[in-house]
Amino acid sequence: MSTLITNIGELITNAPAGGSGGPSARADTEAAPLQDAALVIDGGLVAWTGPSAAAPAADEVIDAAGRAVLPGFVDSHAHLVFAGERGAEFAARMAGQPYSAGGIRSTVSATRAASDPQLGDNVRRLAAEMLAAGITTFECKSGYGLTVADEARSVAIAAHFTPEVTYLGAHVVAPEFDQDPAGYVTLVCGAMLDACAPHAKWVDVFCEDGAFGPDEARAVLAAGQAAGLQPRVHANQLGPGPGVQIAVEAKAASADHCTYLSDSDIDALAASGTVATLLPGVEFSTRQPYPDARRLLDAGAAVALATDCNPGSSFTSSMPFCIALAVRDMHLTTLQAVWAATAGGARALRRDDVGHLDVGARADLIMLNAPSHAYLAYRPGVPQIAAVWQGGRLAVGYV
Ligand SMILES: [Zn+2]
Repeated sequence: MSTLITNIGELITNAPAGGSGGPSARADTEAAPLQDAALVIDGGLVAWTGPSAAAPAADEVIDAAGRAVLPGFVDSHAHLVFAGERGAEFAARMAGQPYSAGGIRSTVSATRAASDPQLGDNVRRLAAEMLAAGITTFECKSGYGLTVADEARSVAIAAHFTPEVTYLGAHVVAPEFDQDPAGYVTLVCGAMLDACAPHAKWVDVFCEDGAFGPDEARAVLAAGQAAGLQPRVHANQLGPGPGVQIAVEAKAASADHCTYLSDSDIDALAASGTVATLLPGVEFSTRQPYPDARRLLDAGAAVALATDCNPGSSFTSSMPFCIALAVRDMHLTTLQAVWAATAGGARALRRDDVGHLDVGARADLIMLNAPSHAYLAYRPGVPQIAAVWQGGRLAVGYV
C-alpha cells in the first residue's frame, strides 16, 4: 500500500543536489528545504518527493496541514545496556564535584548483578523513549559488563534491538584488573572479543587518561578489525589527547566527543572520512565546555550529533534536546543541527539508506507539530514529534 503525505509546510530531504545515492555530504551543500511539498511512501521506502501540486495518487492520503517533515533522527552513540542509575552522582556533580571516568564502575556493578530480562527491559524502555523523540536508528554499545560473559550478553541483548551494535569491552579497565591493566587489554583483544564479535558490527575504545592509552587503543582497534568489526573511538572527551589521531589513522567511521581538539586534530578530521560526533548532552550534564563545532564545520569536517544516552554523563534519549544545545551553545545553524542529527549520524554509522529522504531511502521520517525544523531549538523541552514512520510504518503518533 502506498501513502501520500501532502501539504507539508517544510520538507527536509538531505538529498544531494541533483541526484540520489545517499545523504548529502555536508549540511551547507544541501538543497534548501522544500516548501508546500509532498512525499510518497511505498514498500517501506521513499518513492517520490516534490511539490504538493504535482504529487501522484496513492492508496492513502495524509494531510500534513502545513507541518514540517524531516528524516528520522540517527543516534550514532548510545549506551543502553546497563542497570541502576546515578542520580545522586549527578546531583553531587552539580553541587561541585568533578566528573571522572571512574563513575562507570558503579554501573558495572549494577549491570553484572542484573538478569538478562532486566537488561533487555532497560534497552526496550530507552529505545521506546528514543522512538517517541524521533530517533528511528540508534547505535548501542556494551561496556558495563567488563567480563567475557557480561560483555557477550550485553552485545547479544543489544542485537535484539538494533543492527548497530558496538563492542566496548575497552570502556574502562575491569576492577579485577586494577593491578594488571595490560592483562585486561589482552582479554579485551582475545577471549572477550571472540565472544562478542558474532553479535557486533563495531569495535570502540575509550582512549583517555583514566581509561586506555594510545598503544592500548591501537591494539583494541586492530584486534577488532581483525575479527571483522569496524572501528569507532571515544576521543578527546576529558582533555587533549591522541584519540582523534588514532581514530583517523584507523580510518574509524567516527571520533566521538571531540571536546578538546588541537588544530592538527581538526585538520586530520577534515582531511579524513572520519566523522566528528559531538555529544552536547555530556557537556550539559558534566558542565564541561562544549566542543568547538564551528571550527570543525569551517574546516570542512563532517559533524554528527548524538545523545550518548548513558546513566552517568548524559542520561537523555532526546535528540531534540541535543539539537537545541547544538544551536544555542555550539552555534550550529538550525539546519546544520538537523543535518548532523540525521545525515551526519548516518555517515557516522556508514549507512546510506537512512538519514535522508531521497527516493529509495528507508521511509524513516518524522512529522513535527510545527511548521519548521527550527522549532526543535526554538521551543526547547517541548515535545514536538507528532508522528514517526519507521520503514514506512506509522510507529508513533496518529495523523
Ligand atoms: Zn559514550
